[in-house]
Amino acid sequence: ADTDRSAVLEAHELTAKLYNYLLNNTQHGRVAKDYLRDRGLGDKLINHFMIGYAPEQWDTLSRFLSARNFDPSLMEKGGLLSAKSDGSGYVDRFRGRIIFPIWDRDGKVTAFAGRIIGEGQPKYLNSPETMLFTKSRTLYNLHHARPAIRKSKQVVLFEGYMDVIKSWSAGVKNGIATMGTALTDDHCTILARQAEEIVVCYDGDEAGQAAAMKSIPMLEGAGLRVMVSMLPRGKDPDEYITEYGPEAFLREAIDQPVTTTKFRLIYSRKNHILLKEEGRKNYLLEAAGIVAELDSAIEREVYLQELSREFDFPLEVLKQDCLIKHQELQ
Ligand code: ATP
Ligand code: MN
Ligand code: MN
Ligand code: MN
Repeated sequence: ADTDRSAVLEAHELTAKLYNYLLNNTQHGRVAKDYLRDRGLGDKLINHFMIGYAPEQWDTLSRFLSARNFDPSLMEKGGLLSAKSDGSGYVDRFRGRIIFPIWDRDGKVTAFAGRIIGEGQPKYLNSPETMLFTKSRTLYNLHHARPAIRKSKQVVLFEGYMDVIKSWSAGVKNGIATMGTALTDDHCTILARQAEEIVVCYDGDEAGQAAAMKSIPMLEGAGLRVMVSMLPRGKDPDEYITEYGPEAFLREAIDQPVTTTKFRLIYSRKNHILLKEEGRKNYLLEAAGIVAELDSAIEREVYLQELSREFDFPLEVLKQDCLIKHQELQ
């Protein structure tokens, strides 16, 4: 099994190099290269992240691997090839896609994500779970980001590969992402070992904000101090950087994250019609409940003062309600 493992590892390393070579040096790779360039990725960034291109053909990789005497059934188990349905052999798993190698913590390529060029489904195709790759424990870019995380004790969590890559080019060297699947407790444990603070920088759309609401208690539960970067107008970090530039992204999003309490207040607000008396009342009740979760009376006071001012509502009443809710939680 150990020899299988090292053969699959070696195959992944070679495959990453092959796809990167094909992207950079072939006619087929040209379209992929233009696509990446349109999205703001130059050669330096492409090669730093070892991005590649898997051609449309069925057998580019399968031939390459068999010429190097890799056992095709092992390569299928390793997630690089797919068995043909009639049992007559193997074909490449990734075809006609931009390839993002995924590294483990030690910097070994253990999986790939393949993005379709332009529109189409599925947008991303990932390697399956293999002896090398467990989605629930893998964080994209952790190996690159580790020195910066250790130094600053801070990590930035994104939703997607492109967000990590574009943010890296904007100067965020401590950015990572999950594999398109939800954040798991294992992810949180791994992150809590590396950092003290985490900035959640998910997409600015409804899905991203809902995902942030789910991730926050998990990250806090693992002992991390959590902050949230909010992107306006439904943009994701990659789109924001393309549209407004790296400086604006750092200034508006990364450099001024909000507390999780603030984020939850903003999130809750959207569910209430504040122009109506009833909506205002319900929001204040919910807001008092959110603030009540804070241990510190000083912190609670700060948020309540803000609410009181904004809604021109008696502070003493808010405090009373919040204190009852706080005591109920004890
Ligand atoms: P891009 O910028 O390339 O369009 P994205 O990162 O903005 O991609 P989202 O739709 O915001 O894509 O999804 C976030 C992440 O979820 C992706 O980076 C990818 O990891 C994962 N993902 C998205 N769509 C799929 C899919 N169809 N299958 C598997 N994973 C997916
Ligand atoms: Mn999204
Ligand atoms: Mn996105
Ligand atoms: Mn995007």
